[in-house]
Amino acid sequence: MTVLIAGGGIGGLALALTCHQVGVPFKVFESVARIRPLGVGINLQPSAVRELIDLGLQDRLDGIGVRTRDYGMYTRFGLHIWTEPRGTWAGYHWPQYSVHRGQLHMMLLEALQERAGSDGVECGWTATGFSNEGDEAVLHLRDAQGRTRTERGSLLIGADGIHSAIRKQMAPDEGEPVWGGAVLWRGTTMAKPFLTGASMVMVGYSGLRFVSYPISRPDPKTGLAMINWIANLNYPPDAPWNKEDWNREARLEDFLPQFEGMTFDWLDVPALIRGADQVFEYPMVDRNPLAQWTQGRVSLMGDAAHAAYPVGSNGAGSAIIDARKIGRALVDHGLTPQALHAYEAEMRPITTKVVLTNRVAGPDQILDVVEERCGGRFDRIEDVISQQELADHGAKYKAIAGYGIAATNEAPPTLPAGARLTTRTP
Ligand SMILES: Cc1cc2nc3c(=O)[nH]c(=O)nc-3n(C[C@H](O)[C@H](O)[C@H](O)COP(=O)(O)OP(=O)(O)OC[C@H]3O[C@@H](n4cnc5c(N)ncnc54)[C@H](O)[C@@H]3O)c2cc1C
Repeated sequence: MTVLIAGGGIGGLALALTCHQVGVPFKVFESVARIRPLGVGINLQPSAVRELIDLGLQDRLDGIGVRTRDYGMYTRFGLHIWTEPRGTWAGYHWPQYSVHRGQLHMMLLEALQERAGSDGVECGWTATGFSNEGDEAVLHLRDAQGRTRTERGSLLIGADGIHSAIRKQMAPDEGEPVWGGAVLWRGTTMAKPFLTGASMVMVGYSGLRFVSYPISRPDPKTGLAMINWIANLNYPPDAPWNKEDWNREARLEDFLPQFEGMTFDWLDVPALIRGADQVFEYPMVDRNPLAQWTQGRVSLMGDAAHAAYPVGSNGAGSAIIDARKIGRALVDHGLTPQALHAYEAEMRPITTKVVLTNRVAGPDQILDVVEERCGGRFDRIEDVISQQELADHGAKYKAIAGYGIAATNEAPPTLPAGARLTTRTP
C-alpha cells in the first residue's frame, strides 16, 4: 500500500511530506543522481505558505526566505503606478515569502529525510511510463546506464515537471511545451535592497519588463542581500529559440542593451544585471490544459499537470497546494482511484483558469494598459488609470489564482491537525 511519486521537485517532496504526515507509505523516484539547490528566486503566496506551516515548516521557511512586504508596479521610466501590501501586511493570516528555489527544495528534502529517513527518495531513476494492472499502479523506470525496472504501488502521481513522462503517456500527441514569444533572463545579484527592503517590483511592460525582489535578508556587515531579478523581452512566436532549460547560462549582450535606460534613484537595473554571478535564459513556456489528469490509479500534479507562465508568483505554490489536496483526498477516500478523481475535480478547473489567464491577463497586465495609454510617462497616474481599476485588477487575478485575501483566510485547513489515513483500501 504505497503512493509512488515520479519526480522529487517542489511538488513531489511536498507530497511525500504530506503522505508522511497522514500516515501513507510513499516512495519518490527522482531522475537526477543527486538533488542540488538549483534555480533562482520564487514566491510563495500565503495560501501555499499556510500549507507549509501546517507541515511544521514555519521556522525553516523563516530561516531561508524573506517575508515579502509589498508589490509595486512602475513604468519603464521608473514612475510609480501602484503598490499593494502583501502577506500579513495585506491582512492575510500567513506571510508571503520570496525564497531561493534551490533552498526551498533542499529545505523540503532535509525535513523529509529527518522525518521519514533517507529511503523515501531514490535518485538516479527516471520515470519512463506507467501501466494500470488490476488494483496496482506500475511505474516504469530507467537509470543512467539504461537498466530498467518497475515499481508497484496503490497509486502513482506524476510530479515530474513540465517535461513529464507520465503526462506524455497520457497525452502522447501533445508535443513540446508551448512558447508564446517571451524570453526570460534570470539572475541573482548581491546588492543593497531597494524600497522597503522586502519589496517586489515590476517595471516596464510585457515587451520590456523587469521584475525584482530580495530573497535573503541583508548581511549585517555589508548591508547586501541576494536580489533576484528577471528581465523579459518579447519576440515573434515563430522566432527560432533554444529549447527551454531552467539551467541554460545566458549572455548579457542578448538583453542588457534594452534595459540600459532603467536607472532610477530607487533602482539601478543595469547595475543589478551586470552584478550577477550567473544569468540563466529561459523561453517562457506553458502547456495547454488537459481535459483529464487521471487514468485509473495514476494522476498528475504541479507542472506535470498545469505548467503555466511564471507571471503570477504561484507556480511552486500551486504544486504545494496540489500535494496537500492529494493528501486530503487520500484521507477521505483511501488509496483509491476515487481519491485521484476527487483531487482532480477540485484542482483541474482552478489551475486550467490560471494557465489561460497567465497567457493574457496576469497581474502584470496593468503595466501594458499604462504603457498603451501614455507610453510610460505621466504627471499623475490618476489621469491614466483610476486607483479603483488598479485595485480591481489585482483582486481579480488573486481570486482566479485562489489566493484572494478573504477566501484564503476563511478557508478551513486542507488537512486538519491530526488527520490520518483511516480507510484501509488496497
Ligand atoms: C532545475 C530546476 C530549476 C528551476 N528553477 C526555477 C526558477 O528559477 N524559477 C521558477 O519560477 N521556477 C523554476 N523551476 C520550476 C519550478 O520549480 C516549478 O515550476 C514549480 O516548483 C512546480 O514544481 P514541480 O514539482 O511540479 O516541478 P519541478 O520543481 O520542476 O520538479 C520536477 C522534478 O521532477 C524531476 N523529473 C523530471 N522528469 C522526471 C522523470 N521522467 N522521472 C523522474 N523525475 C523526473 C526533475 O528533476 C525535478 O526534480 C525550476 C525547476 C527545475 C527542475
